[in-house]
Amino acid sequence: MNAHDSEKVIGTLVSQGYSQVPTVEEAELVFYNTCSIRDKAEQKVFHRLQQFKRDGKGKTFAVLGCVAQQEGEKIFEKAPHVSMVCGSASYNQLPQMLVQLEAGNRRVTGLSLDTEDTFETPLTRRDNPHRAYITIIEGCDKSCAYCVVPFTRGPERSRTSASVIAESRQLSEIGYTEIQLLGQNVNSYRDPSPAAWNFATLLDSVGHVPGIRRVRFTTSHPRDFVKQIVDAIDENPALCNHVHLPVQSGSTRVLAAMQRLYTRDEYMQRIAWMKSTRRPIAITTDIIVGFPGETEADFEATLGLLDEVEYDSIFSFKYSRRPNTSALALGDHIAEEEKGRRLAILQEKQRQIQIRQNAAYVGKVEECLVEGFNQATGQWIGRTSQNKTLNFLRPVEEGDLTGSYVEARVTRAGPNSLSGEYVH
Ligand code: SAM
Ligand code: SF4
Repeated sequence: MNAHDSEKVIGTLVSQGYSQVPTVEEAELVFYNTCSIRDKAEQKVFHRLQQFKRDGKGKTFAVLGCVAQQEGEKIFEKAPHVSMVCGSASYNQLPQMLVQLEAGNRRVTGLSLDTEDTFETPLTRRDNPHRAYITIIEGCDKSCAYCVVPFTRGPERSRTSASVIAESRQLSEIGYTEIQLLGQNVNSYRDPSPAAWNFATLLDSVGHVPGIRRVRFTTSHPRDFVKQIVDAIDENPALCNHVHLPVQSGSTRVLAAMQRLYTRDEYMQRIAWMKSTRRPIAITTDIIVGFPGETEADFEATLGLLDEVEYDSIFSFKYSRRPNTSALALGDHIAEEEKGRRLAILQEKQRQIQIRQNAAYVGKVEECLVEGFNQATGQWIGRTSQNKTLNFLRPVEEGDLTGSYVEARVTRAGPNSLSGEYVH
């Protein structure tokens, strides 16, 4: 989502007459987009700003994104060489803010969260030549106890279905075949126009745009993830065989403390929908270990959940205290070493599951979108509908496959990728 925000910001700058340069050294104006989801990410920002200060004489610096929103004008105190601080809810004000910067204003801010607007930039600069991202909903109205996003990205604002479909058509016309719909919680998408589409209808419709062969979406929230979404995937071949459904914990008690608004059983109901489709839907998730009050038994429940679901992959994190969040009141009594121990056990268990899961693909023929060629291994890099990397051999002299859809037979499987041979 941050990468796509950067693409949109670059598009806005280019439309205002700026040009993009490949390195910080060559830039006169440096925009630094930031993440504050965990403390480590935030620390990195201030470290990097110090580096910029040393090496950035004569340049103008702007800090964007969640750290900008969270720290606001305090950034000017911590890093006086910064001239602009702007959160994502104010990106639609960027052209006016740029005018102020050009006029020599040394303290420009865009920090209001009080907006009903979404950030539409028809001139988005797209970095990925195959997969195009489309934001369908910004902000988040949930209040998960650990999460800073509602404070940094503001309330939910959905784009109109007409605007999303029009952008999908334009992308198809310029040659994109894969679209990924983005939002903190795409499932709570509500078309603000009279058509009043829900997420499943929007998803299905994007999957019917001529020329679009693959549609992905992230992120889903189990509370708002309805059966209609699974039915749409089962029926529309353009919708990819993959759902990312963050669970966070396998313990209903911890889920309640996290204010996730579902129980383990309700989550497993959603998993059952996906496992009963005709199509093999890959399921991935996010997990936090060491949330305040997580006991050994709660952690065991999360390990048990991994066995039960058999995820295709997971993102896992140690709980990190974030400003403004309600979990601060619960303390952070689990020691870092213990969080690290739990994380390592969780990741090792998942590695074993992935070895088993991926081994089941050996012998199968999978359709891949070819993303590029790896000079080091001499293999083409393909991505399957299930979002797995499938590397395969085919002499480069026989033509550039980048951007095309090919079939490859899986001959070997590791925990993180598959490898195989070109079929056609
Ligand atoms: N909106 C998405 C969702 O509901 O899952 C994504 C939120 S966040 C950008 C991505 C993941 O970061 C979350 O699913 C969660 O696992 C993790 N995360 C968020 N806040 C965290 C925190 N304070 N400590 C550790 N992990 C956190
Ligand atoms: Fe954060 Fe929860 Fe919103 Fe996801 S749904 S962005 S975890 S508050």
